[in-house]
Formats: sequence, structure tokens, C-alpha cells
Amino acid sequence: MGKIALLAEDVVDHIAAGEVVERPASALKELLENALDAGARRIRVDIGEDGTHLMVSDDGEGMDPDDAAICVLRHATSKLRRREDLASVATLGFRGEALAAIAAVSELEILTRPPGRAEGFRIRLAGGERLSAGPAAAPEGTTVWVRRLFFNTPARRRYLKSPAAERRACLETAARIALARPSVALEVAVAGQPRWVTPGDGDLRAAAGAVMGAREAQALLPVQGARGPARVWGLVSPPDLSRPTREHLWIFVNGRWVQDRTVSAAVVRAYESRLAKGRFPVAFLHLEMDPAWVDVNVHPAKLFVRFRDERLLFGLVASAVERALASAPTFALSPSVK
Ligand code: ADP
Ligand code: MG
Repeated sequence: MGKIALLAEDVVDHIAAGEVVERPASALKELLENALDAGARRIRVDIGEDGTHLMVSDDGEGMDPDDAAICVLRHATSKLRRREDLASVATLGFRGEALAAIAAVSELEILTRPPGRAEGFRIRLAGGERLSAGPAAAPEGTTVWVRRLFFNTPARRRYLKSPAAERRACLETAARIALARPSVALEVAVAGQPRWVTPGDGDLRAAAGAVMGAREAQALLPVQGARGPARVWGLVSPPDLSRPTREHLWIFVNGRWVQDRTVSAAVVRAYESRLAKGRFPVAFLHLEMDPAWVDVNVHPAKLFVRFRDERLLFGLVASAVERALASAPTFALSPSVK
């Protein structure tokens, strides 16, 4: 017999799980994105002390029993059918991998009921094995509990940072979602203690205020611009409000938080002569464009995207941010310091 064999399904799942769910914050990101894709208007999040326990509850479209029973299988998705659709996916998810990956490395429980349906459905798994599934009383929408994340992957557990660091990463993930979708009310707690809540009224500044404090958010300058197929809007800090790292430079492409060197470089360029070396702006910038102009399928966790025309975007962002800064009253002239 040859020495090559196809890997068993559960081994494949386990390997794949590592790519999608690197740490608690990546599991939280997937759950929040699912809630958004389900059309939730209000999402409640509870983050355990070290992030290995998570709860995400939404008021979205929920799942019928048939769907709930299979949503945890690998490649099970309601968001993509044909290869051609890949070019135009408008949802945050489409790979059908997140729930399977999380299920493989945790104890997962999902309770769901579509609005208008009398009865809900509950499914429980541990380490990818189904423990139970059946009808259950449930509020409208979907609640997902992740418990003991990485309980069966000691190697992964060892690489986790301190509980405080994992918790912080989870909070940051929640904040990114809040700013990605200011029209959704996000309520965040840590170990049952409320931390912040965004109003969900569509106002980016209000969402920013909830996560960074109202006083700083008030000082942010509005950005707006359009060029070719792309549009940019958002808020950036006046030069007298800066940070020691680039971490507060948040970019959203079609409602998805991403890391992008071109766009960050454009923002930094706009501040060039206005910030001291080693200081960076705070920015929440939304880029919107036809999905055909941006490829989101280049990274398993979709943290990076590829633009069809990087130079166009660089120019758009740099000039829009420059305009915002130019219109800002300079510190020396502001009435408060006279
Ligand atoms: P993907 O989001 O890529 O489709 P997931 O594994 O994250 O893959 O989810 C699988 C499917 O489960 C989704 O396509 C969706 O139909 C369903 N689902 C997951 N989370 C929710 C939710 N919060 N509300 C409603 N449906 C959900
Ligand atoms: Mg998903």
C-alpha cells in the first residue's frame, strides 16, 4: 500500500480551524460578522475574562431548524452558491468556515429562532462533535455561546497572551465592528459588566464616542471625497490629537474592517508636516466601491483586500484627508486659547 492517504475530515477541520480562529478575538470577529450578515439591528456581546468564553446575541433573521442543524458543518453557507458570485459577494462571510472552525476547537452552543416562527432550535457541540440538537424555546434572532475555546488544542492555548491582552483584543474587535456599522447598536460587556454601547443611529461620531470617549470624538474632523468608482467618508483627528502607533488608524472597505498599507500610507501622508515624527492620527475611514473593484478573497480571515486601482485610492484618501485638515481651525487660532 502507498504511504499517501487523504486526511480524515476531522483532521482537515482541525487544521483549517487554526487558520480562521487564531485567538479569541478572531472567533468574536466571525460571530459578530455573522450577526451583521443576518441583518441584526442590535447585538449584545459578553466577553469572558480571557476571551475563551464568548457570547454573541443578535436580533437578526435567525435560522430554521434545517439550517441550524448544518450551519456548523465545513463549507456550509447561505451566502454563496456559484463561483461567479465570488466577484460580487456583499456579505462579510461567504466561506462557510467560521462556525465549523469554532466548533472544532471549543464547546459551542447555538440557540436560534427566525422572527415569526413559533419554535426555536438549539444545537450543542464539543470539539466538533454534536452533543445534541433539537427544538427549544428561544428569543427571536440568534445567540451563540463559545465556551472553553482551544480546550482541545493545548499548543494554541499556550500561544495565547495574558487574559488582559486577549480581552483587550476582543474589545478592539468589537469596537471595529461598532465603527464599521454605526447603524447597528452594539452592547459590549466583559464578564457580565457593561463596558460600552453604541446608539445604532447611523452616526459614526456617536459610535466613536461610545468606544473612545465623547470628548475626543467631538474633536474629530469629517472627511469626504469621491473619485472614479470609489467614495471615502469618515472622521480623522485634528493634529493636536495623536497617538504613538498606527493602531488607531482604522480602515473599512465596504463595511469591512481591513488592514491596508496603501490607504494607511495615504492618511499618514496627509498629516506629514502636521505631526511630529513617531506620532500618528486617529482615523475612522470608510471606503465604498463597487465590489468588482476590490477582491476580499485573498486572506482566510479577510483582514486584507486587494484593490484593482491602488493609486486611485491613495490619491482619493490623501486629498480627502488633506482637505479635512485644511478646513480645521488651527490650534493657535481657536477661541478657547485666546
Ligand atoms: P459564512 O458566514 O461564511 O456563511 P459561517 O460558518 O460563519 O459561514 O456561518 C454558516 C452559516 O450559518 C451562514 O451562512 C448563515 O446562514 C448561518 N448563520 C451563522 N450565524 C448566524 C446568525 N447569527 N444568524 C443567522 N444565521 C447565521
Ligand atoms: Mg461567517
